[in-house]
Amino acid sequence: MNILLIGAPGSGKGTLSQKLSKKYNLKHLSTGDLFRAEIAEGTERGEILKEAMQKGLLAPSDILLEVMQKQLSQKEFADNVLLDGFGKTLEEAKELDRFYNIDKVIFLDVDFDTLLDRILKRRICSECGYVTTVDESRDVCGKCGGTLVNRIDDNEETFKKRYQVFLEQTMPIVDYFEKKNMLSRIDANDSIDKNFDKICKIIGGCPKELER
Ligand SMILES: [Zn+2]
Repeated sequence: MNILLIGAPGSGKGTLSQKLSKKYNLKHLSTGDLFRAEIAEGTERGEILKEAMQKGLLAPSDILLEVMQKQLSQKEFADNVLLDGFGKTLEEAKELDRFYNIDKVIFLDVDFDTLLDRILKRRICSECGYVTTVDESRDVCGKCGGTLVNRIDDNEETFKKRYQVFLEQTMPIVDYFEKKNMLSRIDANDSIDKNFDKICKIIGGCPKELER
């Protein structure tokens, strides 16, 4: 079973992806992972991606699609894959849907206020980069004891801009898969553990035991 997970910044997509891939033995892939694989191969496309990443630019859409198609057509990614937020635009998502077999799309539906609250409480370890939530009882990293700091882009103003981009670019993808009856919408305003249970109920047993 191949799953595509979609959610706004602050929806818990990263943490839930990790938990899901562990429980269901899925290969967790983000576009960044595919780009790194392409760059490691030293191809011309890899060079273009490397340059875009270094300059902090978005990958050109045609290159992104070519790389996604090439990497996802490899045998190891044919099944039991969890795609973490693939396709930034509707066109990219449609193209992905055309060349890749997606069985289920899960949308983490979270209210604006909850997202903002989570973003403002997010802290990152200045030593090891571990991301956590602010906690009264602890002001150092639980992994290495380093100092926890605010991420520079985790402020209200930046979040509002990112959320606007999400509404304009990603919500059409949600609508597209909903019309195709491929989408499960999860109310993901609860804690990570509760949200995780809701997703597990939708996925059911281990994907390896599920016949297509
Ligand atoms: Zn740390």
